[in-house]
This record gives sequence, structure tokens and C-alpha cells, in this order.
Amino acid sequence: MDNQTLIERLKDIVGPEYVLASAMDLALYSYDASLDKAEPDVVVLPNSTEEVSKVMALAFREKIPILGRGSATNLTGGTIPVKGGIVVHFSRMNRILEIDIPNRTATVQPGVITLDLQTEVLKKGFVYQPDPASQKVSTIGGNIAENSGGPHCLKYGVTSNHILGLELVLNDGTVVWTGDKSRDNPGYDITGLFVGCEGTLGLVTQAILKLERAPEAVKTMLAIYDTIQDGANTVSAIIAEGIVPATLEMMDNQVMRAVEESSKVGYPLDAAAVLIIELDGMPQGMDEKAQKIIQICRQNNVREVKLAKDEAERQDLWAGRKGAFGAMGRLYPSYLCCDGTVPRTKLPEVLNRVLDVGKKYNLPIGNVFHAGDGNLHPLILFDERNPGEKERVLKASSEILKICADAGGTISGEHGVGLEKLKETSLIFCESDLEFGRTIKKAFDPDDILNPGKMIPEPE
Ligand SMILES: Cc1cc2nc3c(=O)[nH]c(=O)nc-3n(C[C@H](O)[C@H](O)[C@H](O)COP(=O)(O)OP(=O)(O)OC[C@H]3O[C@@H](n4cnc5c(N)ncnc54)[C@H](O)[C@@H]3O)c2cc1C
Repeated sequence: MDNQTLIERLKDIVGPEYVLASAMDLALYSYDASLDKAEPDVVVLPNSTEEVSKVMALAFREKIPILGRGSATNLTGGTIPVKGGIVVHFSRMNRILEIDIPNRTATVQPGVITLDLQTEVLKKGFVYQPDPASQKVSTIGGNIAENSGGPHCLKYGVTSNHILGLELVLNDGTVVWTGDKSRDNPGYDITGLFVGCEGTLGLVTQAILKLERAPEAVKTMLAIYDTIQDGANTVSAIIAEGIVPATLEMMDNQVMRAVEESSKVGYPLDAAAVLIIELDGMPQGMDEKAQKIIQICRQNNVREVKLAKDEAERQDLWAGRKGAFGAMGRLYPSYLCCDGTVPRTKLPEVLNRVLDVGKKYNLPIGNVFHAGDGNLHPLILFDERNPGEKERVLKASSEILKICADAGGTISGEHGVGLEKLKETSLIFCESDLEFGRTIKKAFDPDDILNPGKMIPEPE
């Protein structure tokens, strides 16, 4: 089918104003928050599952590549249409369909912005836990496809722990449900298979999410360190003590400086690192836990521990952390955000090696990380316009991921594989592991039309 006919067919399905194909539109849909770029042939903005199903059936008949797009904040090239084809942008399917407090669930369309849902359920005294730092912009569909994490995932687990069921549009347009409001369902765990599949097996058109009661009390502390090692050692020591705070987030000096330059939240600029430690739960016993944590911080040479004295101060500390990537982005024209995970006891050693990689390639690296999960995010700053610099950055990033894998960790804590880490899958999977993944992909998508070229590399 030629492109003009495809555009006309899509207009018949979703309406002419919801099909985009001008040169400007295609350029705007050619990038996401990663470093790669490629243009689609056409973009559609459906308004219902039925429309998604018809679009998918058309792609299936004509063997046209197709991928879903939320807010394109993913950091691994997940929404780059490397083989052209159709981009299905879910921005119109952004309705919260139901908040069911007795069953503690919310049913939403995939284009709902994560923070919008969280704000709505909080009004009823409930929380949806997964809180990627991009929550102001990212969508639930994108969070599901990437199995996103966030600061509170240390205590509450990543997205996969909070999804009860999905409505899916399969490769040929068939619509299926994988679960419902019950907590346990018999049969294959298809929900589990689709969460984190990076849109390579089908499109999510509705999701039933788990809600939890909002904690009665919260205590947030900022621990200030003169060495990164002391901060990292504190993280292991707190967990070893049997305390699992809601968050254990860390930032190094480079990142704190960037944050303070963009919005003054009061991070100490002469410190090597800070830890944001948050406790949540019942008020009873929380003071004792906080005292124990302060004692552990002191045993690990903390310079000072500050307690947020009110909600405004707490919000400031979090605004700094959640704005850290954006603040780093102001310093250089481009950055690459690595995403590796290591056993948390290995953090001090791995961080030293990450800094060595920066020196070796002469690239500034700032570190912000979900320290409690051992999840590092070295942010490599560079200028893509300088010849050869992007290649140097990719080599440095690959080396950092190898360091993580060698330390017993893995190549992604939460951002997925996408396009960017296809090569690095060999650091954690052997060929038969990868072949098994290809078998699953073929079972759902034998023609390889669903987000092709992502997550699993072609066989050698
Ligand atoms: C500043 C910043 C901070 C970030 N912080 C975090 C963080 O703390 N934790 C974290 O985990 N990530 C973080 N991220 C990464 C990113 O925000 C997450 O991966 C997020 O879940 C992507 O959501 P999105 O709506 O932007 O999805 P998109 O980027 O649009 O899509 C992501 C993937 O999902 C697929 N997809 C989208 N919608 C659907 C659908 N309905 N059905 C099937 N597939 C679909 C796409 O094809 C793509 O493969 C951050 C990114 C930025 C830029």
C-alpha cells in the first residue's frame, strides 16, 4: 500500500484531523528523550480501543511497522520508528475511567499522565505508588511498557507490582483482557509478560492499577556527605539494619550544583553527595526509626542530617531531585542517561569506576541514583555537534554498563533496552536466552510489525 492510500485509510478510521503526515509533523515525531532519530511514515491519534484495533488490523494486513507513543520521555529510543511505519500517539486516550475505592483500583486509558492520576487518587486518600521522576509528563502506557521505577519503588516495587490487568490490542487487531480486579488469576501471567515488553508484543489500551492507602505520616531527611563512598555505605547499612525507607535517593556534587543553578532548593554546594531518605507509614515508631537512621548516618561519617520541617521544605527537597535531569540538561546541549543496577553493597566501588570512565573519555559525568535499589544514573554531558563526541559517549556508556554487569548487576534498572542497549544485552544474556525472547516475540508478532528493532537484538 502506498503512503497516500495508508493516510486515507487511517483518516477513515480516526478522522482526518487526527492523522499527521506533514514534513514538520514527521520531524516532531522522529525523536524522544534518547539520542536516536528516525521519522515515521504517518502518526495517528486514536480516541478509543476500537479505533486502535482498526489501525492495528490495517497495519497487520499490510505488514506495516507500528508503535505506541505516550509522552516520548523514554531514555532508550523506545519510540524511535527505526523502520518507519505508523506511530500511534495515545494523547487523546487520557481518561481516568474509574477510581474504585472499595476494590482499591483505578482503571485508566494509557495516555493518562502519571501525576494526574496520582493527584486524583490522593484527593480520596489513596496513592498509586510508581513515581518515575518524569511523572509530571510520562504516561501510564509508557510506564507499563518500560516497567518504570521511581524513588518510592525501593519500598513498594516497580510498575509491574501495581498492575492487575490490561486491555491489549494484539498484532492483528484482536482485543483481549489479561486480568481484572482480582489479586490472583489462574493461567499464564500475560500481564507480567506485557509489563516491560517495550511495546513489542501489543498495544495497551486500558489498565487496571492497584491503589494503596496514603501513608498517615512521612518524614524526610537530607543527609550531607563529604565523600560519595560514605553516602553509599550508609545506604547498605540502613538496609542491613532491617529498615526499608520509602526512598533512598542520592545525588553527587555535580548534580547538586546543576540543581541549585536552575532552582534554589538549598542543597549544600560544598558537599560531595546528599542522600534523601524518606520514611512513610504509621506515625507510631517513626521517630525511633528516624533516630536509628541518623545514628547509622553518623557511623558513616555524615556531616549533617537535616529534617524537612514541613511539607513545603519536603516538596523543595523532592523538586530538586525530580528536576535533576532537567537541571543537568541546562549545562550542555546533550546528555546521555545511563541506567545500570548493581548490588547496593557494590555502589562505592562501581561509582569510583564510573568516575574513572569519565576521566578516560574526558567527559563530565554527574551521578543521580535510586541508591536503595543500587540503580545508578550516570548522566554523561556532551555536545553532539562536536565531531566524534557522540561516539565517545556511547563507548563510555557501554563501558559503564559492563562495569555494572561485571559487578553482578544488570544493564537497566528501569529505562529498558530499547534501541540504545541492544548490543549490551550480550553482557547479561547468552544466545539461547536471547533466542527464547525471539520465540516469545514471534508467537505474538510473527511478521515483526510491533515496535521492530527494539529490546532483543537480531541473531548474529
Ligand atoms: C527527566 C526524566 C526523568 C525520568 N525519570 C525516570 C524514573 O525515575 N524512573 C523511570 O523508570 N524512568 C524515568 N524516565 C524515563 C521515562 O520517563 C519512562 O520510561 C516513562 O515510563 C516513559 O513514559 P512515556 O509516556 O514518555 O512513554 P514513551 O516514551 O512514549 O514510550 C515508552 C515505550 O512505551 C511504548 N508505549 C507507549 N505507550 C504504549 C502503549 N499504550 N502500549 C504499548 N506500548 C506503549 C513505546 O512504544 C515505547 O517503547 C525519565 C525520563 C526523563 C526524561
